[in-house]
Amino acid sequence: MADMIKPVPLVPAIPNNTKINIPMESYHVENAKKNFQVQSIIYMLSVIIGGGLLTYYISGKSLKPIKNLSSQIKNITTHNLSKKIDVPNAKDEIAELTTSFNEMTDKLSNAFTSQKQFSANAAHELRTPLAVLQTKVDVFKKKKDHTTVEYDSLIDVLETHTHRLSDIVKNLLDMTNMQEIELNESINLYSLLEDILYDLEDIAIKKHVTLDLSDDNAFVYGNYNLLHRAFYNLVENSIKYNRKNGNVSVNIKSTKNDVTVVVCDTGIGIPSEMQSQIFNPFFKVDKSRSREMGGVGLGLSIVKNIIENHGGSIIVKDNKPRGTCFVVTLKNIK
Ligand code: ADP
Repeated sequence: MADMIKPVPLVPAIPNNTKINIPMESYHVENAKKNFQVQSIIYMLSVIIGGGLLTYYISGKSLKPIKNLSSQIKNITTHNLSKKIDVPNAKDEIAELTTSFNEMTDKLSNAFTSQKQFSANAAHELRTPLAVLQTKVDVFKKKKDHTTVEYDSLIDVLETHTHRLSDIVKNLLDMTNMQEIELNESINLYSLLEDILYDLEDIAIKKHVTLDLSDDNAFVYGNYNLLHRAFYNLVENSIKYNRKNGNVSVNIKSTKNDVTVVVCDTGIGIPSEMQSQIFNPFFKVDKSRSREMGGVGLGLSIVKNIIENHGGSIIVKDNKPRGTCFVVTLKNIK
């Protein structure tokens, strides 16, 4: 019974010696498939290469201004900070960046120039008394025997010029250290100015100058000693550079937000073309006169530093009919 059941092949067996006839159509399909594969590889490669080249070209073109900018920036050193970088004509981000860069180098260049000027002026001011001291000592050494008068005269010169040197050094140090001082006291400006006028009364009497102070209950935040020093300098200058029988008036006026202190004198005045430089360190209107008065031209620059450190401002203007006015504005805390 088992011999009788034989598995039936699913595909009918083809005898070995039979030739199969593949139809022409299926040959063409195979060929087309191959061609398609080769062509798609060629297209793909050309798209990749073409795309790559195009990207390289476009990115190269768009990065050119950045490369230009970077190579120009590399050529800028501390010696040619004032040199300007060419701003591209296009109104894009690169042009904006170049303009900002030019503005920044402008500010740096100005800061470097004023620092150089400051050092040169400081060196000059220190050199003058040192040169006087050296000459006096050299002359003194050349002679063997000296009279008491000669000794006294040498000591006088030594005293005057060492004082001058230490004043300059002290002022320079104060200017550098001012940023670190705390400004957290509540100050009554009227009593501060009253103290200053009281301290300067004797000098004013000697110069035949009268002093006036207007009353106003104004308070500001800050450092008492620094503000005392600033207003002392202003009032002292107003007496120093005044005329005989002249007057110095100090007016305090407070508004909602600000306090204005106006120090006016009837003195020799400051030529208008010099008023913009008056707050520069070591600036003097009349060198010989300042020296005579014991000034080195640092007073007003210290005053400006102090007022600006307190968030305020100071300007100078002519007093009518003669003299000068300094207008200081500070924040009112009332
Ligand atoms: P100094 O210590 O030499 O007085 P300042 O910085 O205080 O230096 O002043 C600078 C210059 O400004 C002085 O040389 C002086 O000629 C001028 N000056 C300052 N205040 C007055 C003023 N009230 N009237 C006229 N000239 C002034």
